Amino acid sequence: MNGSDPLSWSPDGGFRFDNSWARDLPGTFVAQAPDPAPAPVLVVLNRALAADLGLDADSLAAHPEWFAGGGLPPGAEAVALAYAGHQFGGFSPQLGDGRAHLLGEHLGPDGRRWDIQLKGSGRTPFSRGGDGKAVLGPMLREYLISEAMAALAVPTTRSLAVALTGEDVWRDSGRMPGAVVARVASSHLRVGSFQFWSARGDTPQLARLADYAIARHDPDLVGQGGRILAFFDRVVARQAALIAQWMGLGFVHGVMNTDNMTISGETIDYGPCAFMEGYAPGTVFSSIDRQGRYAFANQPLILGWNLARLAEALVPLIPGARDAVVDDLNDRLSAIAPRYHDEWLAVMRAKLGLDGAEPGDGALVDDLLAAMAGADWTLTFRRLADAAEGDLAPLKGLFADFSAMEAWLPRWRARLAPGAARAMRAQNPAVIPRNHMVEAALTAANQGDMAPFHALLAEVTDPFADRPGREAFTLPAPMGFGDYVTFCGT
Ligand code: AMP
Ligand code: MG
Repeated sequence: MNGSDPLSWSPDGGFRFDNSWARDLPGTFVAQAPDPAPAPVLVVLNRALAADLGLDADSLAAHPEWFAGGGLPPGAEAVALAYAGHQFGGFSPQLGDGRAHLLGEHLGPDGRRWDIQLKGSGRTPFSRGGDGKAVLGPMLREYLISEAMAALAVPTTRSLAVALTGEDVWRDSGRMPGAVVARVASSHLRVGSFQFWSARGDTPQLARLADYAIARHDPDLVGQGGRILAFFDRVVARQAALIAQWMGLGFVHGVMNTDNMTISGETIDYGPCAFMEGYAPGTVFSSIDRQGRYAFANQPLILGWNLARLAEALVPLIPGARDAVVDDLNDRLSAIAPRYHDEWLAVMRAKLGLDGAEPGDGALVDDLLAAMAGADWTLTFRRLADAAEGDLAPLKGLFADFSAMEAWLPRWRARLAPGAARAMRAQNPAVIPRNHMVEAALTAANQGDMAPFHALLAEVTDPFADRPGREAFTLPAPMGFGDYVTFCGT
């Protein structure tokens, strides 16, 4: 298992833990070790990420119990975090890590701080009725899609490893192999973390949490007067930019509850998420989202709704008369929609190869969306790069009726930056995690064959290249695949 140079091998994995949450936020977590795994086996290890984090992948590979449960890397102090949250609009004052353990914060080679968390690692005081476990398919799904998002340059939590525990877990579909994903995040602070203390009316704890969040994510604001409002604005900016990126990629998160919205601006909790194929604003994949609350086109509205919940939670921390504070926050909330729109338009301009900003750009994008109803989202943009070079055939092949596009194309060409095709191909992926490919990879993995998973992972983590041999990964699901339904990641 040792690397080629035994002298460079660190038996402690290279972890440098400094556990500020456990040290600074008593009351906001419960010390709790992951369940021991009877037969831990690593099924995926992210060697590239390990290297970036200053971790020794060979040493990690020698310690599957660090990832499946049964032993902690040196310096880890396992805790389950408390948080609250609005789930599908209804408030739960106590959610928390019901099947996750924060092992601690690892300091990377550049001094940056990374939460290392296991998910699927056993019951905690926050488990409520749940078993605290996870199964292989959904954990591999989180690994695959989070790594695809990172390769697409979308802020996201990362996946360091998936390990089998050697224990079967019961689900509706029967006995499934139990598994744990090791997640890396710039923090696990969520909107719901603030709601937890705000719902309890505990302003000192809320203030401690806010200062902790500011120190981690906006250290330039530490100690400043007005820092809570400035912090709120930063969260708004990060989340508006994030959701604009999702919308550019046709990504549907599926469960944008306030406990699944980070303070860092990273995408988190890859449960029922999926990428839209044929463009339809109402696209929903999650089996439990019957009202379409978290449908593709609703995500920008939910952005504002969730940030309003954060604003409410922060009210007690903002100095001044309450009415004035609320007015101020309301002004900031009203500014979210235009702010998001600017971010989105910037994303769409880049996708369409437009330089600079012109007043008609919004209408140009809106009219494209109207013209492309039903056409494959990813391929339409990818093949517009061919159209920019004068080759219309690949684009035309995506449309049953091309007439609206015929009318739109000259307007776009008139606005197109010279030589834009290259830049467009660097913005518009050739390969996304297509739902039928993801399902095929997870089905094979459940039967012990990891080869399709690794093949798909290699493709989705190199999304922008045009390479012969990858066509099968670029195409939409065959007709027989039907409507895709996802289930929450349990
Ligand atoms: P999620 O939908 O994954 O964001 O989870 C929502 C809440 O349910 C969180 O508090 C989770 O910790 C909890 N939860 C999800 N699955 C389980 C499980 N199998 N056992 C215990 N708690 C769970
Ligand atoms: Mg969650």
